[in-house]
Amino acid sequence: MLENKVGMIFGVANKRSIAWACAEACREHGAELAFTYQGERLERNITRLTKDMENTLVVPCDVTNQSEVDAAFEAVDKKYGRLDFLIHSIAFAPREALEGEFLDTSRDAFLTALEISAYSLPQLALSAKPLMKDGGSIVTMSYYGAEKVVQNYNVMGVAKSALESSTRYLANDLGKDNIRVNAISAGPIKTLSARGVKDMSTFLTHIEERSPLKRNVTAREVGNTALFLVSDLSSAITGETIYVDCGFNIMGI
Ligand code: NDP
Repeated sequence: MLENKVGMIFGVANKRSIAWACAEACREHGAELAFTYQGERLERNITRLTKDMENTLVVPCDVTNQSEVDAAFEAVDKKYGRLDFLIHSIAFAPREALEGEFLDTSRDAFLTALEISAYSLPQLALSAKPLMKDGGSIVTMSYYGAEKVVQNYNVMGVAKSALESSTRYLANDLGKDNIRVNAISAGPIKTLSARGVKDMSTFLTHIEERSPLKRNVTAREVGNTALFLVSDLSSAITGETIYVDCGFNIMGI
């Protein structure tokens, strides 16, 4: 499905990361993959995870450092000469902003969360565009807290709203270049980032009880949807937020 396609994956921290599940799904379908990591401590994780994958590239990229972003795309250009898809699976907010009241969010926490979790999407799309010479597909990860109040999700919910809106504006700008941009709104999954949200396990139990499928989603199910969105099977889908949440979002009372 993805033979001869090159993808860039942002956001693998470890094997539980949603980005890693996306990478495994894409790799199994023939894609060549470049991985970025933030900070030296993650380099070892990614290098270990990718050691049996052929023709990969592992480059540092903290999205708050524009020269690292530029260097990452230059490295992809140099190695592959093209880019067909990009999976954006990164987010951050200071821990203290992910508990208590949203009202107490500091200016710094707000700006940091919005910069890393939302601005990074248009930032990376701008760098990806010249490499997506034959069109392309960009996928980002959102959450239900973008549209409804989820206790403790706070400023990250605001950042995810900006992310979903950015998805639509980018889809409009990049459509003429045959570059599609979509978001996946994933149900909660126990990952490193998710552990930063207070009372995460309560969300998981609630979804088991209330979602139509009566269970939580797996990272691989999110990865499979990302695979669909970066493949030609989804060639007429852009600007959408697709729920991969065992149906939880459809429920009222
Ligand atoms: P992970 O912690 O595994 O992945 C988050 C990644 O974001 C990490 O690799 C992290 O690196 C990276 N990151 C943070 N700051 C930066 C930065 N400045 N520059 C580059 N990378 C950065 O968690 P998930 O897999 O859960 O998260 C992936 C995405 O999925 C996020 O957007 C998250 O909001 C979203 N999502 C997660 C859900 C869940 O329940 N897990 C549900 C719905 C959406 P580092 O570890 O160094 O900070």
